[in-house]
Amino acid sequence: MRFAIKSRCQIRAELAGSYATAARLYAEAVANSTQVLDEKKYQDLCMEAREAKQRAEAAGLRFEEHVASHKCHGEPVGDHVPRG
Ligand SMILES: [Zn+2]
Repeated sequence: MRFAIKSRCQIRAELAGSYATAARLYAEAVANSTQVLDEKKYQDLCMEAREAKQRAEAAGLRFEEHVASHKCHGEPVGDHVPRG
């Protein structure tokens, strides 16, 4: 199996970043909504968590659809970030 891949898909990297961010925001919204809260705050944060979940699912779908059509699943993510 070859490991090094020369070409990089910038769209994949951007969609992967959006997906990861949306998933993180969803996780945070869940953590917030499951605190001990008064009823109003609870309802608000549950709504936020549901919306964050939908955004994360939509971002995941965009990523998967791009990779499925472009066949760029083997390419590294985040390689554009300077190291060192
Ligand atoms: Zn791609």
